Amino acid sequence: MISPHFQRAEFACSCGCGFDTIDTESLAVLEDVREHFGAPVIVTSGCRCPAYNTRIGGAEHSQHILGRAADIQVKGIAPARVQDYLTARYPGRYGIGRYATFTHVDTRTDGPARW
Ligand SMILES: [Zn+2]
Ligand SMILES: [Zn+2]
Repeated sequence: MISPHFQRAEFACSCGCGFDTIDTESLAVLEDVREHFGAPVIVTSGCRCPAYNTRIGGAEHSQHILGRAADIQVKGIAPARVQDYLTARYPGRYGIGRYATFTHVDTRTDGPARW
C-alpha cells in the first residue's frame, strides 16, 4: 500500500512497462475522495508512458505521463457527482475532467483546468 486505500499496482501503466509512480498530491486527493464518499475508488487509468498515451490517443501533454493524474470511478456514485465534489473542494487548482463513465483528476501545477 502506498496510502491507506491504494496500492502502487493500481496506478501502473496499462502497457506493462512498469511505470507506476503516482505523485503524493494526487494520492492525497484520491484519499480525500475515498473518505468523502465513503466508497471504493477505482483507478481506470493512472500512470501512462508516452508510448501508451499516444497509442490510446491521450493528450500530448497529459498529466498521466507525469504520474500526476488518475481517471477514477467511485463505486455507486455518478461521475458528475464526483466532478462536482472535486471542483467545489479544490477551487482554482488542479485539472478536473468530466466523462460519461469516469472522472479525470490531476494535480497540474499550472492549473486550474476544467473540461
Ligand atoms: Zn507503459
Ligand atoms: Zn485522465
